[in-house]
Amino acid sequence: MSSKDWLEKDFYTVLGVSKSASTDEIKKAYRKLARDLHPDRNPNNKEAEEKFKAASEAYDVLADDKKRKEYDEMRSLFGSGAFRRGAGRPGAGGQFDPSDLFGGFTGATAAGGAGADRRFGGTGFSDIFSSIFSGGAGAPAGRRGPQRGRDVETEVTLDFTQAVRGTTLPLSLRTPGACDTCQGNGAKPGTTPRSCPKCHGTGLISSNQGSFSFSEPCRDCQGSGSIVDEKCPECRGSGGVTKTRTINVRFPAGVADGQRIRLSGRGEPGDRGGPAGDLYVQVKVRPDELFGRSGDDLTLTVPITLAEAVLGTDLRVPTLDNPVTLRVPAGTPSGRKLRARGKGVARKEGQSGDLIVTVDVQIPSGVTSEARDALEKFAKLTPPAGRDRLEARLRKSD
Ligand SMILES: [Zn+2]
Ligand SMILES: [Zn+2]
Repeated sequence: MSSKDWLEKDFYTVLGVSKSASTDEIKKAYRKLARDLHPDRNPNNKEAEEKFKAASEAYDVLADDKKRKEYDEMRSLFGSGAFRRGAGRPGAGGQFDPSDLFGGFTGATAAGGAGADRRFGGTGFSDIFSSIFSGGAGAPAGRRGPQRGRDVETEVTLDFTQAVRGTTLPLSLRTPGACDTCQGNGAKPGTTPRSCPKCHGTGLISSNQGSFSFSEPCRDCQGSGSIVDEKCPECRGSGGVTKTRTINVRFPAGVADGQRIRLSGRGEPGDRGGPAGDLYVQVKVRPDELFGRSGDDLTLTVPITLAEAVLGTDLRVPTLDNPVTLRVPAGTPSGRKLRARGKGVARKEGQSGDLIVTVDVQIPSGVTSEARDALEKFAKLTPPAGRDRLEARLRKSD
């Protein structure tokens, strides 16, 4: 029984039962057909003979729960008849060659998709089909040969200063790793897995059906190509155990909130000699109560008084290392930005950001009568604000 037949034949119609028929109903329907169509009762009736064969074939699949499930899934995935062969002219659209499907599938395996499921045990047809259609990334490999390890994603929250200066932190990761007892091959120490005799170690079973070339993972070895006779007691033959790994991750100076750092080869170890996956670290940065960040520049807002803005002052401000003194020139408007060079993010490559200080002139909400007198005197001694254009417009509308 090949998959090609499954795609083409509607076993339910052949037996005259519904798709939801119970195994009992299927048995009954088959027995009746077998009686009616039996060659002994229909001598030299070619049509009855064909129907009799078809009914046996249908019964073979539908009476077996496992086969029936696979048949149902396959047909629902491909649509009954949607890919029926011979329905059109050769090469016409709508033709379907399962070898295309499996060809692509095996290719994807060799490439080793990110996040590929490395545990691929006890899998039948149905799983393979659903995996193919559930999206490429998660598709398990058909053959358990060398496989790239899974990528691992983790999140780390850094202090503001750690992010600006860069830091190295130990990260503990609980990930599946190769079993130390058996070096990941799943065999009891002292024994070695033997090559699967069914598929000759290839992990794939091929069959040719006319123009069809069909491969599927070997069921004897679940596509691994090897068979373990005595299982490793540590990992019970799976070859993998969950391990806590501690790795030191270097965060470069200036790492930003939301940045994702990729550490090549620090993900899960590969399976059966395959390369390790990558580790992705999602960085979060705790905000600072004082400083902000704009690229490689640090930002800081400093309140100053009206008098300081008018008269000018020296401003002592903190940085992430030593405080610096910045000159606020006389007549500085609110919102002006002052720059402390090189006090931002110091990059390894030499260039570094600045500390940008924004002055914020504070207007007192209430003053003493003495201050009020002084201010009125000040008002009389200073020129009015430049509102000439505005005054002109007002005169026009009068
Ligand atoms: Zn083991
Ligand atoms: Zn095999």
